[in-house]
Amino acid sequence: MSDRSYDGSCFCGAVQLTVTGEPAVMGYCHCESCRHWSAGPVNAFTLWPKDAVRITQGGDNIGSYAKTEGSHRKWCKTCGGHVFTEHPAAGIIDVYSAVIPDMPFTPKLHVFYEETVLRIHDGLVKLKDLPAEMGGSGDALPE
Ligand SMILES: [Zn+2]
Ligand SMILES: [Zn+2]
Repeated sequence: MSDRSYDGSCFCGAVQLTVTGEPAVMGYCHCESCRHWSAGPVNAFTLWPKDAVRITQGGDNIGSYAKTEGSHRKWCKTCGGHVFTEHPAAGIIDVYSAVIPDMPFTPKLHVFYEETVLRIHDGLVKLKDLPAEMGGSGDALPE
């Protein structure tokens, strides 16, 4: 376990954060919720234990929206830039890869590929929904 830290920020810089250590897993989410909220075809995620993420500036400038109890989506109230999503029940935080550009992004899998609108031929496993250990089916789909 590394104790290396990486700094990140929202689009305008009002919100600053630091992640420390190694993310539990990195990959791409193709689910409708991520696509609709981000207005993009896919979300590059890095999942961290809650304690690994520290807001170092602008904590009171973070907006929050939970369409479902499972995902509390956070953004900067000044620039509207997305910063991270809390998954409180699981005790994990998804810091979007684009928010922490200095951290090497090494994706291991694609999730919710059954909802994809952008097929990606990178040789990584494409899960229908989530890994079994995260409550999903664990089933893989063709690229
Ligand atoms: Zn901002
Ligand atoms: Zn998603």
